[in-house]
Amino acid sequence: MRRPGADGSAAVGPADSLGAEAAEPGAEWRQALEVSDLRATYGTGAMIVCDRVVRIFRGAGVEVQALQGLDLLVAEGELTAIVGASGSGKSTLINILAGLDAPTAGAVRVAGRDLGTMTAHERLAYQRTQVGFIWQQTSRNLIPYLTGLQNVMLPMRFTRTARHKRRLRAADLLETLGVASCAGRTPDRMSGGEKQRTAIATALANQPRVLLADEPTGELDSVTARNVFGALQTANSEFGVTVLVVTHDPAVSAQVRRTVAIRDGRTSSETLRHDHQDDLGNRTRQAVEYAVLDRAGRLQLPREMTEALNMSERVRLQAEPDHIGVWPDQAADRPSAEHE
Ligand code: ADP
Ligand code: MG
Repeated sequence: MRRPGADGSAAVGPADSLGAEAAEPGAEWRQALEVSDLRATYGTGAMIVCDRVVRIFRGAGVEVQALQGLDLLVAEGELTAIVGASGSGKSTLINILAGLDAPTAGAVRVAGRDLGTMTAHERLAYQRTQVGFIWQQTSRNLIPYLTGLQNVMLPMRFTRTARHKRRLRAADLLETLGVASCAGRTPDRMSGGEKQRTAIATALANQPRVLLADEPTGELDSVTARNVFGALQTANSEFGVTVLVVTHDPAVSAQVRRTVAIRDGRTSSETLRHDHQDDLGNRTRQAVEYAVLDRAGRLQLPREMTEALNMSERVRLQAEPDHIGVWPDQAADRPSAEHE
């Protein structure tokens, strides 16, 4: 069976059935109930749920809407890249997911916890046990006067792990991430890549469900960046931790199965990649870009497509059996008689 939307066309089924029901008596109520039901169940079972997240920064007479109703679902065990222009809201999103910042409106759930209703105590426990966080600045992730091993052991103090267990697990993590040689060194004697891999080991110390990394390879050359990204992939495959990584590096985003693009504080498109094997057994990676259809049915059309067809303000939609056609407003194309 053909999957709706597999060729980039939108699925029309649900909208059609709602439209048909609208004619029946009481249909409006039923629709309203369905919508509230949808709200309660949105993202059930997902590891990360962002439900119309808004974050507004207010200061000295200016207001910045960093997130403008962002929806995002990430399943357990996924490794997802977040891309987007500078200022599009990526760090704001990651900071909220890490429990370092709170949304102005909307709901955020991570590993079944509602970040909006947590007490300060629960928030601290969340930060220590459920999420690991890696900053872009390599100097920010590690305590400068502790060795690699001591850095990885430190978070386990907060979870009251016995000292010998801390030591064993820390050594094990450094080994798995390829930086066993950093165990006895302080960060000033590690390279940039070694620091980030030790930081990933530290972030994994308390077996978090989610690993968040905000441009972790931003300060590194491309070869080192690939190694550090490899360590994130190892964390994902070896420990099953769900990974969300903000990156500017197309070489990194090309390696993940799912890339989510953020534009103006909203998720705007997604690229999904899968391996394809032809009849001769040759494997190739195929990437398909999708537009994101939000829960209100809104769709952001890429500017290059709308500009090429002179689409602005209004478009005409046409439902076809297996896709929806989007047409320029023809009235807008014709020079209007009144102005001639
Ligand atoms: P990105 O990480 O995608 O570059 P950010 O999330 O850092 O984007 O920022 C999104 C928008 O929010 C930007 O316009 C930025 O200037 C603004 N912003 C971020 N943090 C703050 C803050 N603490 N105070 C005021 N504005 C902020
Ligand atoms: Mg940023």
